[in-house]
Amino acid sequence: MAGIAPHPQDWLRVTPAGLLCEPGGFFIDPTRAVDRAVISHGHSDHARPGHRHVLATRDTLAIMTARMGEGRAGATQQALPFGDPVTINGVRVWLRPAGHVLGSAQICMEWQGSRAVVSGDYKRSPDPTAAGFEVEPCDVFVTEATFALPVFRHPPAEAEIARLLRSVALFPERTHVVGCYSLGKCQRLIAMLRQAGWDRPIHLHGAHVALCRVYEELGIRLGELRTATVAKKEELQGAIVLAPPAAVADRWARRLAEPVVAVASGWMRVRQRARQGGVELPLVISDHADWDELLATAEQVEAPEIWVTHGREDALIHALSLRGIRGRALHLVGRGEEDEAEEPAAT
Ligand SMILES: [Zn+2]
Repeated sequence: MAGIAPHPQDWLRVTPAGLLCEPGGFFIDPTRAVDRAVISHGHSDHARPGHRHVLATRDTLAIMTARMGEGRAGATQQALPFGDPVTINGVRVWLRPAGHVLGSAQICMEWQGSRAVVSGDYKRSPDPTAAGFEVEPCDVFVTEATFALPVFRHPPAEAEIARLLRSVALFPERTHVVGCYSLGKCQRLIAMLRQAGWDRPIHLHGAHVALCRVYEELGIRLGELRTATVAKKEELQGAIVLAPPAAVADRWARRLAEPVVAVASGWMRVRQRARQGGVELPLVISDHADWDELLATAEQVEAPEIWVTHGREDALIHALSLRGIRGRALHLVGRGEEDEAEEPAAT
């Protein structure tokens, strides 16, 4: 008869390099180069260069290789399809979709009857460019807490896209420039604009071109894309331009035709923040779970204990305790350096 299963804290430890699965001998989203890494998704605060062996989804490996260059995204790479288990030094490992960006995965592990799931970054709302989040029951669930305050409730993204298109219809002689991060948010916006019936070319800041190409190579159809930098001012009247958040309030955007400055981010829920950034059209579109999604997920995974990696851990841990779930702050360093996980600096 099997003995009592160990607690995940006995085999999953926080180290200076990040979370280590001790019996498996691998790190999850390590912050420095390691021998064996399992990577949840391609954002640079989770996927770093220089590991010897990298296990991830095929799409995450392709994104890492495109961003880091051949050889820097793991000397050896192992692509693991969703749901297929592998055994690493006696630890069963499998991936489930996290719904965050293309290729994003939750890392599920089982050792001696004890199961932990590291969700990476995730969201529960639909995204035409990312496989939807799947619930995996576990003993310990590791969650982010970027938007873990009751004020953060993301409206349906479709409604925000509709607001953007209404504004474009209202100001046909102006250019709408939308600030968004280049991995994930940019392609999600394009795909949602296409779903909403926008079939005209979409213009891109140069920083967004390469990853859109990678998405297309991986089978995500984005329609006709053009580079905004070479376009004439008149061509950009009535057009939608996607650019990095830092570029929209910058000199770069001033060359556009009377730009309407928009930013697509969960932080746009805070009106003051949008005003400070000179954002005329704040769009609350996030690739991270909002307050309700975080709490719903916490209940669905049926884990008696939840570990919180980064964000507003205090509020989440308090809310979990009211639901009889034990919370623990991991204080992982180096998270939130890319994408909206980092609260934008006040300007
Ligand atoms: Zn991310």
